[in-house]
Amino acid sequence: MASTPNCAIELESLSVDFQTVTVLDRVDCDVQRGEWVSIVGPSGCGKSTLLRCIAGLTKPTRGTVRLGCANPAFVFQDATLLPWRTGFENICLPLELTGNGSHDADQAVQDIARLVGLSTADLQKYPRQLSGGMRMRVSLARALVIAPDALLLDEPFAALDEILRQQLNQELLDIWHGHQITTLFVTHSVAEAVYLGQRVLVMNAKGSVIGEVEIDLPNERHAALRNTVEFHELTARISTMLQEGLR
Ligand code: ADP
Ligand code: MG
Repeated sequence: MASTPNCAIELESLSVDFQTVTVLDRVDCDVQRGEWVSIVGPSGCGKSTLLRCIAGLTKPTRGTVRLGCANPAFVFQDATLLPWRTGFENICLPLELTGNGSHDADQAVQDIARLVGLSTADLQKYPRQLSGGMRMRVSLARALVIAPDALLLDEPFAALDEILRQQLNQELLDIWHGHQITTLFVTHSVAEAVYLGQRVLVMNAKGSVIGEVEIDLPNERHAALRNTVEFHELTARISTMLQEGLR
């Protein structure tokens, strides 16, 4: 359990070695309940490993992960859908695996699908019949259907074009506002990290967190925000930190 009641995720000196290489190096981080924290860092710096440790998929070599939330859900960069199942059946999967598939579950799937912008017709399609954006919506719905307390998102929109990415950013923000789900969002886009986050953690190539930037912008985010001086100042500051972290 987390040591303070408001803490959803607490990492203390978290380190992971693969063979003789340290890929995560003494990461400390507290994420409060309902908070949105974005993480940026160069490719290979350990961002996915960090999320995998929180999800219990990778065992830390040293340090601790404490969770103050019951059921974190993971969304991967690829939609990772089962090709032989329809959208509906993919979204149902976590409920079936936990023995919760039922008529009530059907309604829950319909409700979640609507929330992420999937129509009834989309739900009947197989992944190969859906666009990349729609597949990611199914993947998001599959994560949300278990009513998670926390969402761990690993570059979920990296493969999408900019317009679609911004649209999904906005939809995800609406869901976050509506449900106050603790969110840890990994991205390699500084602009995306700032636009979405209340805080941005910056990692360097050696797997350490080298800085943390409070995103002191209004909680309601709108597209026009991307053109403000404040937004540009924040992205410039984080980009500079990233550059320094490469040295
Ligand atoms: P990021 O998500 O920031 O790109 P990752 O967490 O995927 O970085 O990987 C960090 C480093 O750990 C990379 O060098 C990667 O090759 C290595 N790595 C990741 N998973 C494993 C594993 N299971 N075994 C060995 N090395 C791994
Ligand atoms: Mg990764």
